[in-house]
Amino acid sequence: MASPSTLDVGAARVLLLDAHDQLLARRGRFVRAVEAEALDRVERALQKLDEGTYGTCDDCGRAIAATRIDTAPDSVLCVACEGRAARRLTAPRS
Ligand SMILES: [Zn+2]
Repeated sequence: MASPSTLDVGAARVLLLDAHDQLLARRGRFVRAVEAEALDRVERALQKLDEGTYGTCDDCGRAIAATRIDTAPDSVLCVACEGRAARRLTAPRS
């Protein structure tokens, strides 16, 4: 069976191993960033417990919905402020 590629097996292996290494490194950075963000949220929630502000939004100061806290005890922003923060992060830069 003829291969549709002009790459030989050795060249294909080099390209695939390079892509594999780059993706593995990128995944490692992504996982570390996600874990660091989760750790920051938990630490901030613990800090708010100590401050007596747990359950109130860090941005607007309003109460965070109990269902949100029940679902995600590390929530430090209300749904509205979390949405605004997410939109700021994903908004195109001008
Ligand atoms: Zn808020």
